[in-house]
Amino acid sequence: MIRSDNHVHTSFSTDSDTPMEQMVLKGIELDLSSICFTDHIDYDFPDMGNGVEFLFDVDEYFAKLAALKESYPQFELRRGVEIGLKPDLTERCNALVHGYPFDFVIGSTHLVDNVDPYYPAFWEQYSEKEGIRRYYELTMENIKTGIDFDVYGHIDYIIRYTPTQQKYKAQGIINEAYMEKCFRESADAVDEILHLLLARGKGIEVNTAGIKYGLGHTNPQEKVLKRYRELGGEIITVGSDAHETKHLAYAFERIPALLQSCGFRYYTEFRGRKPEMIAL
Ligand SMILES: [Zn+2]
Ligand SMILES: [Zn+2]
Repeated sequence: MIRSDNHVHTSFSTDSDTPMEQMVLKGIELDLSSICFTDHIDYDFPDMGNGVEFLFDVDEYFAKLAALKESYPQFELRRGVEIGLKPDLTERCNALVHGYPFDFVIGSTHLVDNVDPYYPAFWEQYSEKEGIRRYYELTMENIKTGIDFDVYGHIDYIIRYTPTQQKYKAQGIINEAYMEKCFRESADAVDEILHLLLARGKGIEVNTAGIKYGLGHTNPQEKVLKRYRELGGEIITVGSDAHETKHLAYAFERIPALLQSCGFRYYTEFRGRKPEMIAL
């Protein structure tokens, strides 16, 4: 069992109402060894008419983490952030991650041409094939920026939200043929992404939210994890992407066997931006 959750959101993230302390209490209840909080900072996130901004006061965040460390000295809290990558944000993101003593930085692509594919409006602009293609194309551009992150977040995020996947999700169906098709049609793009990450010395994560979203698989799916390992990738963190306490360490019991089947013998936790390898 992996007892450390390395992708967790709290009410510092605009899309979560969960107080940080409740996540800590849940972590203690689940007998986790640590939580690395990774609240969202997405600079210049477009206004979708709902006032959602994806920013928080970083000084307040560090002060809250310090206070909780004092209240729960037996439980390890680590200080991370999930930043939304875009080429024109390189300086702002680096000023953030170098301006504070973060333990861990996840870099993610949440926007395609300034729209989050989470919103159905995105799929009115793009066919499914074109939306996926464009997502991976922008992922490559984002990795090539000089933004200083440790691992790249949820590589195949886009397939959680495609109209086809939304249809299967509404019917409660896990469609393995669709997952296979998503892998096959983007295999070259994903290979290029993995090469870019490896060339920059960056890791990836296995994010269990895909299971919660009805994909029946992690993000990225196992075939991508296996490919990363085949190409020599070793740095892999494990996170639930929980926004509510009920999803903390979600489906983690499946992860050791899953990673081993993809060829991994270790998973990674970051402290002070340094990777530590832990045997599976
Ligand atoms: Zn994310
Ligand atoms: Zn997240």
